[in-house]
Amino acid sequence: MPFSDLGLCTELLNTITDKGYVEPSPIQSKAIPVVLSQRDLIAIAQTGTGKTASFSLPILQRLVDMQRADAHCVKALIIAPTRELAAQVAANVATYGRNMNIRSTAVFGGVRIEPQKYELEQGVDILIATPGRLVDLYQQGAINFDHVEILVLDEADRMLDLGFIDHIHSIQNLLPKKRQTLLFSATFSKEVKALAATMVKTPITIEL
Ligand code: AMP
Repeated sequence: MPFSDLGLCTELLNTITDKGYVEPSPIQSKAIPVVLSQRDLIAIAQTGTGKTASFSLPILQRLVDMQRADAHCVKALIIAPTRELAAQVAANVATYGRNMNIRSTAVFGGVRIEPQKYELEQGVDILIATPGRLVDLYQQGAINFDHVEILVLDEADRMLDLGFIDHIHSIQNLLPKKRQTLLFSATFSKEVKALAATMVKTPITIEL
């Protein structure tokens, strides 16, 4: 199936062509329609399969579809286990969304928090974050989660390995109950299944 049959707008299709992507990868063909349908998703996919685009592209499309006249606020929250991954996902989102009126940024630990607070104050539509810094920013009153419609947990298995389970649960409790949740993991261990069970509702599961 070509990219043009997946329900993405012309701006996104042009960017995909500019990037030199000829056809969607298997995870993209399967995940993009699920994300656009607003169903919850569990996707078991390794890095290198094109998983980042499989959630970034349809999230950008969802934001275009829900574009309202109100100010920029966090509508999609992407949680990643490491600052490297958060930065990489943010770079992808920025590239794919470059011709759109959608703001995104990454926040992670190990760097000063003040510039991140300033960026959040300016208004962000898609926030990519590591768990610890996200909790810190929330506790300092720098983030409003009231408008979050889509939550992505990227590399959920690594998140568990790195001991972020408590952070994940406390963030989850702060988010609106009515939302779409997408969980990506390289492995589908007992622990990942248990975490997924607390986060997703009647999900579609994709195992590559
Ligand atoms: P990821 O699995 O998200 O880390 O992506 C792995 C690499 O594949 C990245 O460098 C992407 O730019 C590239 N990529 C993603 N989707 C496609 C596609 N449909 N065709 C060719 N390359 C892609």
